[in-house]
Amino acid sequence: MGVKARRQNVKNVKRRKRDLDEINEDLKDKNVDKLLNQEVDYDLPGAAQHYCVTCARHFIHRQAILDHYKTKVHKRRLKALETEPYTVKDAEAAAGLGTFKQPQKRKIETVDKEERAEKRSKVEDNSGDVSMNPE
Ligand SMILES: [Zn+2]
Repeated sequence: MGVKARRQNVKNVKRRKRDLDEINEDLKDKNVDKLLNQEVDYDLPGAAQHYCVTCARHFIHRQAILDHYKTKVHKRRLKALETEPYTVKDAEAAAGLGTFKQPQKRKIETVDKEERAEKRSKVEDNSGDVSMNPE
């Protein structure tokens, strides 16, 4: 590991901030639910009950996170996440091992716990007697 890389590593560990590629991983459906429904943890702001997935930040109460959604920081983050991060495949492609594909632009929206719960209950209402659930 070079000096630069090592220094970068120390910085990452100290700040413990999530990288965009980690957050990209967080935005996958199965992870989103876990992150939005974290166990109560009194060491974290708001006991981990108000989490902005795209910014990887905890907020102290519902109003704080609602205010946060309107801030520049949050909107900038949504924009940053719209460009899909490089995958190993892209890196190989760029190195001439395949066809290089321009990173895809996609739409990232605020992932909100209550909005999500609302959407889900609507889906359940519409599902009628077509049950895909074993329950
Ligand atoms: Zn945010």
